Amino acid sequence: KTRVFSGMQPSGELHLGNYVGALQHWVARQDESDNIFCIVDLHALTIPEQIDARALHDNARKLAALYLASGLDPERNLIFIQSHVREHSELAWILNCATPLGWLQRMTQFKSKAQQFESTGTGLLIYPALQAADILLYDTDAVPVGEDQRQHIELTRDIAIRFHRLFGEVFKLPVAVIPEVGARVMGLDDPETKMSKSLAVTRPGHAINLLDDEKTIRKAIMSAVTDSGRETRFAHASPGVRNLLSIYQALTREPMSAVEATFAGQGYGALKKALVEVVWETLRPLQARYHEIMADRAGLEAVLTRGAERAREIASATMQRVRDATGVG
Ligand code: ATP
Ligand code: MG
Repeated sequence: KTRVFSGMQPSGELHLGNYVGALQHWVARQDESDNIFCIVDLHALTIPEQIDARALHDNARKLAALYLASGLDPERNLIFIQSHVREHSELAWILNCATPLGWLQRMTQFKSKAQQFESTGTGLLIYPALQAADILLYDTDAVPVGEDQRQHIELTRDIAIRFHRLFGEVFKLPVAVIPEVGARVMGLDDPETKMSKSLAVTRPGHAINLLDDEKTIRKAIMSAVTDSGRETRFAHASPGVRNLLSIYQALTREPMSAVEATFAGQGYGALKKALVEVVWETLRPLQARYHEIMADRAGLEAVLTRGAERAREIASATMQRVRDATGVG
């Protein structure tokens, strides 16, 4: 079976972009592959100014609960918290040593995040090497992610290839799997900027969070930036309208032509109202499951403990190969 690995940062609340860009597809294909889904809490430390220890600890559990509430079955998917498996940090160091600085400085996410925040920690620069470690530790074939991560998965391959040249073959080379629709959901307040957890923290109306109530969702969608026209064909729509159409399409899984037919000749008000309904239909049952899962914290911890144990078995075997190849240990 294909080994699938992916993860999300507990850096804030999950939003609709995370859902339609990644999580929805993890759930839809969980029977086809051998799946490992990680809560990458070490990555959340890359913006240390936004970290509160208690909150990070809680957010990691909440994120795990959202994985389950979205439909990931803990029996069929290995779910764990990154920092519970020390091999991630160990391999990240070794991969950092094999990664040319220029490769990291070229990453567009680094450049944009370094601009967004007042100070830039070294962790933000070297984060893709930790991400490479996450993926390579599990002999991953496929990494289902949103469009923004394409460059990092390419880099993961490049780092693995360079490591192989330096030390010999150890890793499997993974490929990114990116959905055709919804791979890059834009901010509702600014359709030129990717919807992001870390931006949503300070910008109300930027994102729809998976745990938002109906009123908040309606407000965010109804006040989403559009334009003064009536164009609802994908190819001609302005970025804000195209964003709403894409979210609608990703959630309903209708073909583009059907979505266009639904909204042909109607104003943006109709599109927005329909989108509020579709979003709420998706999120209402998800939220109900989330609250049930969070009410059984011991059950959730048990899933994560078991996940970490199984993850450690795989990761430690890979790490042994790395130690043998490099001479450390
Ligand atoms: P942060 O701002 O902290 O980086 P984020 O919203 O980018 O948060 P991540 O945890 O970095 O979320 O990414 C989790 C997954 O969600 C990745 O697969 C990423 O590609 C995907 N993703 C993130 N934002 C979007 C988006 N706007 N549209 C589609 N997919 C997205
Ligand atoms: Mg991100």
